[in-house]
Amino acid sequence: KAVVHWFKSDLRLHDNRALHVASQLARDHKIPLIALYILSPEDFTAHLASPARVDFTLRTLKRLQTDLAELDIPLYMESQEKRKAIPGRIVELCQQWNAKHLCANIEYEVDELRREAKLVRLCAANDIDLALSHDTCVVTPGALSSQQGKQYAVYTPWFRSWLAFLKENPDYLEISEEPGSNPGDARRTLSELFDCKIPAAPGNKQLSDEEKKRFEQMYPAGEHEAFQRLEKFLEKKGREYDKMRSVVAGEHTSALSPYFASGALSARTAVVTAKRANRNFLDRDNNGYVTWISEVAWRDFYKHVLVNWPFICMNKCFKPEHTNIEWEYDLNLFRAWCDGKTGFPIVDAAMRQLKHSAWMHNRTRMVVSSFLTKDLLLDWRRGERYFMENLIDGDFASNHGGWGFGSSTGVDPQPYFRVFNPLRQSERFDPDGEYIRHWVPELRDVKDKAIHEPYNRGAGQIAKKNGYPEPIVEHSEMRNRALERFKRALQR
Ligand code: FAD
Repeated sequence: KAVVHWFKSDLRLHDNRALHVASQLARDHKIPLIALYILSPEDFTAHLASPARVDFTLRTLKRLQTDLAELDIPLYMESQEKRKAIPGRIVELCQQWNAKHLCANIEYEVDELRREAKLVRLCAANDIDLALSHDTCVVTPGALSSQQGKQYAVYTPWFRSWLAFLKENPDYLEISEEPGSNPGDARRTLSELFDCKIPAAPGNKQLSDEEKKRFEQMYPAGEHEAFQRLEKFLEKKGREYDKMRSVVAGEHTSALSPYFASGALSARTAVVTAKRANRNFLDRDNNGYVTWISEVAWRDFYKHVLVNWPFICMNKCFKPEHTNIEWEYDLNLFRAWCDGKTGFPIVDAAMRQLKHSAWMHNRTRMVVSSFLTKDLLLDWRRGERYFMENLIDGDFASNHGGWGFGSSTGVDPQPYFRVFNPLRQSERFDPDGEYIRHWVPELRDVKDKAIHEPYNRGAGQIAKKNGYPEPIVEHSEMRNRALERFKRALQR
């Protein structure tokens, strides 16, 4: 007999709600806990997981397997090509292990909910007790609504309500205990489950050896690494985060997003640790810690949006009237954007950062999403997709939310008439051009303020000699074109 915990994007022992339930059940029934992970190549393809994200997941599994083994808990892993087969396969494995209890954390995206619904039916039919937990958000989706009983579509009142909820319900910030060790004979009775190999990355999600090494160095996997990074960030950068977070050169943000996305770090732990650093206040004093907590809350916000309006999972805009916007589909412009060859140094630096690091600074994510959709008028879905295919922290809800913001088609968007000016953004958030010089080597020798627009500020010759392109569009013209298109669509 056994209890099974099914791992998905919750790859950690610390503060994992469903794992905690599983561990308690195992202890109460004096039976072993088996951990399970099923990789689905079809799922990775359907959800556009980047090779860097897949590699990070596999490396995180390796750490998890080692940590679990120390508790005599086996991590059984396998690959299932067809994702539809997963619920049936889980039930089969439970039967094989004679497990009457299955635990998992809920994932809220539409495909995942359908999969979970199927699992609920199959478990009921096969006499398996399935316990699903809410874990990934600090405040459970559905818990917050306005005084009129409506779901929030704007962040600021939602955040006020989020804070008030946590003050009234401090148990939501309680950290779950890690699982205890399996009974002494688990190593013997489950011996064949202990030497499970980490599944290989599917063929279409492979990294080159050089990339593998690079990402391993940049983002070592596992929850211990995540926690160390969290503590170091809060100690060294937390206090100044509100002032420094938009400066794109250097490291002023936590870079914890890959760890949140894989579940190596729980958002609850992050908020509790930041709160502790802030003398145990969630929102007292408007300082760096409070601002950081409010950023982690954005992650909750977008997941709540996804749960309330699930149609956004279907390539749809949040507001139906935005469906009328007439987008362009010029492949050459799109390629120039992807390759960082638009002639707008801040945009190009950011797109090259993404290619090299599978990550991009939040400020430049806003700049490049606005540039793609307002300056180039290309369909935001192309950008959303490209981000997913390349980010190590690709997360559907946050990515969709970010693209909705940048393109003014989402929930709580930038109003469409507030178009980011790439030049002003560059001067403001990379004042010395350090970020641009780092990522765009063609402009390394360009001096002072010319770095922001070399062709208009006397550095055209250097730029040209080094093969840096002239701007592919004229910002003020494109701004006017975008305003007209938006206006026309919204008047229809
Ligand atoms: P910090 O500044 O240290 O913030 C801490 C954590 O708070 C982040 O790790 C993240 O989990 C959360 N967070 C911060 N800002 C946001 C935000 N605006 N929305 C949601 N969560 C936030 N984030 C992703 O995790 N995955 C994505 O696929 C993603 N796509 C984006 C696309 C666009 C167009 C935009 C504008 C933003 C996107 N973001 C995405 C949000 C944000 O840019 C990243 O979370 C952040 O840059 C990660 O860096 P960090 O860990 O250093 O963040």
